[in-house]
Amino acid sequence: MLTIENLQANVADKPILKGLSLTINAGEIHAIMGPNGAGKSTLGYTLGGRPGYEVTGGSATLDGADMLGMEPHERAAAGLFLGFQYPVEIPGVSFVQFLREAANAQRKARGEAPLSGGEFLKLAKEKAALLRMDMDMLKRPVNVGFSGGEKKRAEMVQMGILDPRIAILDETDSGLDIDALRICGEGINAIMRKPDKAVLLITHYQRLLDYVKPDFVHVLASGRIVKSGGPELALELEEHGYEAVAA
Ligand code: ADP
Ligand code: MG
Ligand code: MG
Repeated sequence: MLTIENLQANVADKPILKGLSLTINAGEIHAIMGPNGAGKSTLGYTLGGRPGYEVTGGSATLDGADMLGMEPHERAAAGLFLGFQYPVEIPGVSFVQFLREAANAQRKARGEAPLSGGEFLKLAKEKAALLRMDMDMLKRPVNVGFSGGEKKRAEMVQMGILDPRIAILDETDSGLDIDALRICGEGINAIMRKPDKAVLLITHYQRLLDYVKPDFVHVLASGRIVKSGGPELALELEEHGYEAVAA
């Protein structure tokens, strides 16, 4: 589904990704772990097409289509969802409005008719319930005054509504208490653990992986995948640290 080959990218003229290769098939959940500054978020932003992340070599294809040549909204329409380490606040726009705009923009890009108000609300309620999120909360301005856990749960509601083929989730577990961690983990499983979907979880810690069991775990260090294994690799990293395991 997602094939990344020898990807190289600069941020502020500094090489950060230095030849990263990774293949993710439909139905698989992959985790990328690695020390601070390794380039994990840069990988997500580069695949999402964020301005300022300059591809200098290599390729990334989604279902065979060159993703790096697409505009960010085209990547989303092709089925890519990015969950951010630091969700943005949008004062003056309610989450419900934002979600409906996003859902209909994506449907339009896919050549589908927009959802009616009633259809959208039904969908939003269903996905909010998966994340144990109150609809009243979603009537508030996007992320304004939300706790860390509420932001991440709201983002997972957004993922449920957009129904992506592949989700790249950057430190979804950061700032979550135990209950929010479990709810987010269960939400990711409910939405994305399907034979035709895939997930790339970027995380520092093993704890999210207790809920969302990865099929493969990779260590990213200095802009490359330096080690790959099964779920046991995450436990090994937790116990011995990146330096010992990935050296
Ligand atoms: P990680 O997510 O693995 O902690 P990042 O991808 O955020 O790492 O960062 C990788 C490297 O890129 C770091 O050395 C960081 O300082 C650098 N970097 C990231 N964003 C910028 C930026 N906007 N300007 C300059 N350097 C940056
Ligand atoms: Mg970091
Ligand atoms: Mg990061």
